[in-house]
Amino acid sequence: MFASEVAIKNSLEAMRIHGGHGYSEEFGVERLYRDAVLMSIGEGTNDILRTIIAKQPIMGKRKIA
Ligand SMILES: Cc1cc2nc3c(=O)[nH]c(=O)nc-3n(C[C@H](O)[C@H](O)[C@H](O)COP(=O)(O)OP(=O)(O)OC[C@H]3O[C@@H](n4cnc5c(N)ncnc54)[C@H](O)[C@@H]3O)c2cc1C
Repeated sequence: MFASEVAIKNSLEAMRIHGGHGYSEEFGVERLYRDAVLMSIGEGTNDILRTIIAKQPIMGKRKIA
């Protein structure tokens, strides 16, 4: 979850740095951003992961199983 959010933040920054080219499909930057967003969706969205992580201390678990 942390890694995907860092990837989203950094790839968005890369898009901004590239200006209009960052948005264009002719360059690879927009693909980096789309792929980063996928990492926050697939195999459980980050919202769901937050819920799972938040439940751990409530359920007395130290490790996420
Ligand atoms: C390119 C791509 C490839 C994929 N490949 C696979 C694959 O190979 N195998 C596979 O099994 N699945 C795959 N998926 C599906 C992926 O796992 C689901 O898209 C993902 O689990 C989210 O489910 P959903 O799209 O039904 O969104 P929803 O569950 O409808 O969620 C929509 C929004 O509501 C939020 N939300 C939903 N429930 C809650 C809640 N209880 N609390 C807070 N927020 C909530 C979500 O965080 C999200 O923002 C793929 C998806 C994409 C886009």
